[in-house]
Amino acid sequence: MFAKTIPLFRLFGIQINLDYSWFIIFFLITFALAEGYYSHVYQGYPGIVYWFAGTVSAILLFASVLLHELSHSLVAISRGLSVKEIDLFIFGGVAMIEEEAPDPKSEFLIAIAGPIASFLIGFFFFLIAYYYPHDDLFNGVVNYLMIVNFILGFFNLVPAYPLDGGRVLRALLWSRKDLLTATKISSQVGVFFAYFLISVGILYIFLGNLNGLWYCLLGLFLRQAAKRGFEQTLLYSILSKYKVQNFLVTVKPLFPNQTLADVFNYYYPFYHLSIYPVISDNGEIRIVDISRYKRVPLEELEKIKVGDITEPLRIYISPFDTLANALKIMNKYKVEEVPVIYRNTVLGIIKRTTIESILERELMEAKSRRVL
Ligand SMILES: [Zn+2]
Repeated sequence: MFAKTIPLFRLFGIQINLDYSWFIIFFLITFALAEGYYSHVYQGYPGIVYWFAGTVSAILLFASVLLHELSHSLVAISRGLSVKEIDLFIFGGVAMIEEEAPDPKSEFLIAIAGPIASFLIGFFFFLIAYYYPHDDLFNGVVNYLMIVNFILGFFNLVPAYPLDGGRVLRALLWSRKDLLTATKISSQVGVFFAYFLISVGILYIFLGNLNGLWYCLLGLFLRQAAKRGFEQTLLYSILSKYKVQNFLVTVKPLFPNQTLADVFNYYYPFYHLSIYPVISDNGEIRIVDISRYKRVPLEELEKIKVGDITEPLRIYISPFDTLANALKIMNKYKVEEVPVIYRNTVLGIIKRTTIESILERELMEAKSRRVL
């Protein structure tokens, strides 16, 4: 497998990554500025100067995008959410905020922080241009950066989810209705806006302007993201209604002196679990994962004591937690089964397949009720 991103550096504990697709846009912008805009508007410099100005502009543009994403991230962190990464890619940047905002106010503040940052950066370049009123290449670079930051701010304020403006709209709707309805409406606006961009793109292509291709690609990307955003919210809103305690597989803990043959003969056919709780001699709850032993012959399994292959209990969930949180934990730690623990007692195991079948049933019912 190829890594999709190149790790750059860390800022405020957030890992900044560069997606390979970023190089395409970086080259296109540098090229367009050096060979097109700068060399035509500001004549009289050697060719290399335009390429230098183009490269500096493209780097500062992406520094601006990074600051935009960083503002989302820092506000998210201040509202108690965790942000581990920011990825820069062909359509700009994305802050990987690990969870949904807990309330409309947080959602609003996190969303609005990005465009505000872009406007402030735009204003910063405006001040430089204002105090350096010479019509030369330096002024050209400053002007370019001012304009793109203002465009970045305004474009992101379009109320089309998952753009920042769409998140603001969702926050405002959420403060009056439930999150699912708010997400549904704002992502519908998002899909509509995506089709608008695609139409504009097709029109441009017909008129012989190849920039139209860019609008089409951006539109397709936004349409996909708007739909995915709604599905994600739908999934969590369904699963938030259910508690882990009603769906766990109740399982009796193993003892350290039992053999793996016992587990495969008496436990596995009944529970179909890969992990089992074990109570060690000092009363500590540990976990045994039998998935690695499924192909080992029975006579070998008879020689392996459960107590010799246990692991510490690292991941677990409370029975009163929701299935939405259980799924979050499973996705975060990339596991299929999570032990359910209450007051140092093992109640059982919650399985991903159980959660998925509940989800499937609910979606089928919702479809037959024509809610979706
Ligand atoms: Zn943003």
